[in-house]
Amino acid sequence: MTAPGTDSDQATFSPTSPSGIVAGSQADLSWMEDVYKFFHQHPELSGAEEVTAQRIVKELEGFPDWEVTSNIGGYGITAVLENGDGPTVLMRADFDGLPVAEKTGVDYASTYSQLNASGERVATMHACGHDQHTTSLLGAMRILNEERAHWSGTVVALFQPAEEASIGAHKMVSDGLGRIIPRPDVCLAQHIVAGPAGQVYSAPGPVMTSSTTIEITLYGRGAHASMPHRSVDPVVLAASTVMKLQTIVSREVPPGKFAVITVASVEAGKANNVIPDSAKISLSCRFYDEELRQKCVDAIKRVVRAEAMAAGADRNPDFKFVGMLGATDNDQGVYDVVRPHFDSSFGEDSIEMEPWTASEDFSVIPKSFGCPYMLWTIGITPRRQWQRAESAGRLDIDIPTNHNPGFLPDLSTLQVSTRAAAVAILACLQSTWEQPEAEPHAMGAPVPTDEEIDAVAVETSLVE
Ligand SMILES: [Zn+2]
Ligand SMILES: [Zn+2]
Repeated sequence: MTAPGTDSDQATFSPTSPSGIVAGSQADLSWMEDVYKFFHQHPELSGAEEVTAQRIVKELEGFPDWEVTSNIGGYGITAVLENGDGPTVLMRADFDGLPVAEKTGVDYASTYSQLNASGERVATMHACGHDQHTTSLLGAMRILNEERAHWSGTVVALFQPAEEASIGAHKMVSDGLGRIIPRPDVCLAQHIVAGPAGQVYSAPGPVMTSSTTIEITLYGRGAHASMPHRSVDPVVLAASTVMKLQTIVSREVPPGKFAVITVASVEAGKANNVIPDSAKISLSCRFYDEELRQKCVDAIKRVVRAEAMAAGADRNPDFKFVGMLGATDNDQGVYDVVRPHFDSSFGEDSIEMEPWTASEDFSVIPKSFGCPYMLWTIGITPRRQWQRAESAGRLDIDIPTNHNPGFLPDLSTLQVSTRAAAVAILACLQSTWEQPEAEPHAMGAPVPTDEEIDAVAVETSLVE
């Protein structure tokens, strides 16, 4: 295989190393582009990935030795190959698309559409590259399948729906993933991003933010607008609450630590002569540090409750956590195992990853098993396009990022993400892993309690 960033011609690795096994593999990957284009042309909304899941299952028929389970937590799928003694390594690929109308102009662009939660027909697109993640995992499976004489252990390929809705991983876990697959010693995932095609970015520690979305209802007492003394005015309460919330990041978060608390919407009142009886504010919060997130969520609750009390409200505010993702915090040990093999496979295209302020639900899976994990990213922007924008000082303007209608991976990077997956899985199979310190939790977890609500995603998909 050759691809941007390959230095396999230098052959600096032994044939039994992960890089050597992948570079020397005779596995047939000629089908990959067609499968990728099929996924690309059939992007399905979170929770509604029926056609995509069917195609994945059909592709898995070509792997008779892998034990396949489908319909886990919706359209989730796992495929397990047991190949002797050794570690169990899980790799996850997500496969949902987005309600975005593709504007890439390529002949395989999506013209697909689906009904959204409100029953409106919307154009859909794989604007986040989940089609490539899925195809690459199938490709890595093919390499591992053909090269199984060179490794021993167990590989779990996990295909996850509904990532964009932040609920797919949690749904698979709560639907009994822990009873369906063997407990992994380590979990892996990758994500494609805007960046020079073929660059592979990895780093230890927090690489993607946590995301916490909270809808808060503030209760007052309604009255005629001319009789404010008969009311507890939720508009004034909401206004003071929004202002007071600004002091959490500015006064409670240590300078130099990353935290965002955005009040993204305020709703109250429908008429100009009525003081309404409630107001709703919605918060979007981002953090790298889980302890800091907990501290800020506690501060949000404290401020909101105190403001309601100060206003004389009879009823406590309601907090609804509609989306909750932990930070993606790469394990140092997994990084130490994988990174040298990325370096030997990709040479100078193996690069330190800058933290990314987007969020991911992948870490829900390793956390449910109490095992370490790592997510890396891969640049997919055609090199010429990148260089042109860079020399014009227009990277932020000219290069489509994830979720943009012009987001279009260079097809050559399909091979890079496939090799990266195979190399990382093999590197983990060739290592030894400690038993978990933490007890696995959330095996078949029921609806979370109030106490657990801060630690999991609780909202069901908007899509039927
Ligand atoms: Zn996305
Ligand atoms: Zn994504």
